[in-house]
Amino acid sequence: KQQFYLKRENGEKMNWKIIFCFTLLSMLETSSSSKIYNVDPSGYVLYCPCMGRFGNQADHFLGSLAFAKALDRTLALPPWVEYRYGEPKSVQVPFTTYFKIEPLESFHKVMPMEDFMEQIAPTVWPPGNRTVFCYMPRGNPDSESCNAKEGNPFGPFWDTFDVDFNRSVFYGPLNYDVIHHNMGDAWRDKYSSEDYPVLAFTGAPASFPVQEENRRLHRYLEWSDDIDQRAEEFIRNALPKGAFIGIHLRNGPDWERACEHIDSTPSLFAAAQCLGYRNEYGRATQEMCLPSRETILQQTRKAIKDYSAKSIFVASDSDHMIDELKKEFKRMNVSVHRMPNPVPQVDLAILGRSNYFIANCISSFSAFAKRERDIKGIPSGFWAFPQKPQNIQNSSSRSDEL
Ligand code: GDP
Ligand code: MN
Repeated sequence: KQQFYLKRENGEKMNWKIIFCFTLLSMLETSSSSKIYNVDPSGYVLYCPCMGRFGNQADHFLGSLAFAKALDRTLALPPWVEYRYGEPKSVQVPFTTYFKIEPLESFHKVMPMEDFMEQIAPTVWPPGNRTVFCYMPRGNPDSESCNAKEGNPFGPFWDTFDVDFNRSVFYGPLNYDVIHHNMGDAWRDKYSSEDYPVLAFTGAPASFPVQEENRRLHRYLEWSDDIDQRAEEFIRNALPKGAFIGIHLRNGPDWERACEHIDSTPSLFAAAQCLGYRNEYGRATQEMCLPSRETILQQTRKAIKDYSAKSIFVASDSDHMIDELKKEFKRMNVSVHRMPNPVPQVDLAILGRSNYFIANCISSFSAFAKRERDIKGIPSGFWAFPQKPQNIQNSSSRSDEL
């Protein structure tokens, strides 16, 4: 109380600190469950979802869950890292804003990172004695440090929890592949839970894209009631009764640039979800990455017919093509819809409920909805895939040459 009062006297700078404290307090209040956790003697895994946006982070989450399971450590569920236009620092959104905890608990020991910091960290991971793990020194090569807080979102992420690091551990040559290598034991041998109760990583202990074997873990990711309800409400109120087709149009300027590299990167981003993890089903193409107007209209038309759909739901990061789609399908009496102010997670939840979904094979955002649907056993397709026979021929002869 006394300290608080003194701070107030210090003018503007301190006012800002007080506001920050209140924000932090209210955040902790809303995001932490009332549940009381016992200390896990096997230890904890913490990480910053420091790479990419939601789709990438979700891929990484599934791998990190498998990693924590293999090491038998409790996984601290990190907040989702979001980037708001024009803001220099990432924003951290509590894990539970988007997903339920209970289904995850049925698979493995997990707890929200907010709860970990509040209940466990003060005794098990006190300030002044915090180690961070990275494969090798990162950032400044002379520093022999993970520089875990250097850059955005690295700094803002750990600052959300007032975490500073006192020591770095370079864990190379160990890796995260608990499926193909006996990494669970290797980690346990080298970094015991007695010596290292907390393994805090600068990035997700997982690969991107998600390993094939870990896709099934998506069944433990269930949307929060809030996201579910918003999706349901939209479907009930905005769409006509009857079947609807969900389509994902990933076409913003960042994506156009990414797609330029497709020829030199036959398994770019999430491409394995349709091409296979060893490119068994061909190579990624421009048309799969950034489908043409013709491809979009043609495949959507076929889907409408196949499912006797009454409407189309469009999710996009940029151009929803609403007018074009409306014009094209007016005569079929099919209406076209989008969320007025699209929230990525609600868009995904709606796509997850459509009667048929056309995904962008390269996009990890699309991959999220595709995995959810695979788990539910409902059908999806991809833009420009499977490729026309002559293209497959070309692509396989091309790979023969390599
Ligand atoms: P990827 O880049 O497509 O592999 O997926 P990421 O999720 O990593 O990055 C794309 C980001 O763009 C998403 O996280 C969203 O913020 C945004 N985005 C892409 N597609 C959509 C969409 O259909 N709807 C909404 N609301 N946002 C999207
Ligand atoms: Mn991305």
